[in-house]
Amino acid sequence: MLSKFSHSSLGTFRQCPKKFWFCYVERVKLPHRVFAHLQLGSIVHRQLATLYQQALDGKVYSREELIASYKNDWDQLDKTKLEVVAEHMGVDDYIENGSRMLGTYYDNFQPFDQGILIMAEGNVNFQLPGTNIMFTARIDRVLKRSDGVLEICDYKTGGQALPSARDASFREQMGLYQLAIQDRYPQYEDVELVQYALKYKEAVSCRFRPDELDELTEQFRSEVNQIINAERYDDWPERESVLCRFCDYAHLCPRKRHQAALESEDDPERTSAEQAAGLVDQYLDWNDKKKEAEAELKMLRKELIVTAKDLGVSKLYSSEGYVTVSVRPATKLPTRTNNPTAFAQLVYLVREKWKLEECLTLDATALLKDFYGKGKLTDEQVGELEPHIIRKDDVRVTPRRSSPATADGQED
Ligand code: SF4
Repeated sequence: MLSKFSHSSLGTFRQCPKKFWFCYVERVKLPHRVFAHLQLGSIVHRQLATLYQQALDGKVYSREELIASYKNDWDQLDKTKLEVVAEHMGVDDYIENGSRMLGTYYDNFQPFDQGILIMAEGNVNFQLPGTNIMFTARIDRVLKRSDGVLEICDYKTGGQALPSARDASFREQMGLYQLAIQDRYPQYEDVELVQYALKYKEAVSCRFRPDELDELTEQFRSEVNQIINAERYDDWPERESVLCRFCDYAHLCPRKRHQAALESEDDPERTSAEQAAGLVDQYLDWNDKKKEAEAELKMLRKELIVTAKDLGVSKLYSSEGYVTVSVRPATKLPTRTNNPTAFAQLVYLVREKWKLEECLTLDATALLKDFYGKGKLTDEQVGELEPHIIRKDDVRVTPRRSSPATADGQED
């Protein structure tokens, strides 16, 4: 198990406890894969960190030098080994995107003197306030601005959509960064968090009130406790979602392994996987038939009840058998499930007002039925109970097919 938690590990558990188990408990080794979009992120982050470190020393790259240094980083990689996840993109498109992001950032922020650099690409280990839970956070940049505010920055090079300061994921990540930096530099109280969405050429910023940070701290504490409990009971359920498509452990996951075996031509389990698929088909077919039959039965049941009522009979016959339609007046009391408010009132009557000893530990509704049904309540109590009583006919439709011995109409 982890000795330190992070925004990413909590996010993995939230997405799917089973994925967390594969990744952080079982630590399954995965084949080494290098993705173009991840390389883009790390090279751009590295270049931006270099720019601010240079600014601290008073000598900054020119725009051309920055782009040349960026491209040089890509040249160190074997591009034929890079994997691309977006179908419409090639490796060169990623390189070009990163170059554009850096160029725009350079134009907007050079000479990178928005403050004094406190940290660039730094790992901060810290204790979650009021707990003994250790966290770690990788912070892209921390600046002390000329207005005295400590600015904690995060760069995003990907993203399906421009983040919003109201997004839960934005707040969780940036809140955790503030907790980390305030632990490291408690002397700074005025803190602003800024996330630069480089792809969108936008910055999203926020400040947390102390009570908001307390709330996030409580959320993180509770999530870590859920993880500790999952480990204690060895309970790591799969949580299927659209994100399974990107899960590195899908070929091992009980929810996805069969599908993977069916889709792979050379999977050793393919034959048994196909047999299992045959069972699934049969089950689905019968389940469909069952649903159709249930719908048909429901409709016939209604017609039989109406017909029996119209004819004034309680048993309808055919040459194949008969159906008994029994209609009895019934009284019911609300239950905890079907009407929690009314049920709470009943509990109050029984336990607080009438103080029926027998009801103190047992189910109030069942005992009330017993008391009410068997006339053990006083008239006053019956009067108080009356508004809670539900009166509804109890209708039963019971079919019976005649056996050959009773085909002459005698009941078996
Ligand atoms: S494939 Fe889906 S359900 Fe299975 S571990 Fe991955 S995220 Fe969880």
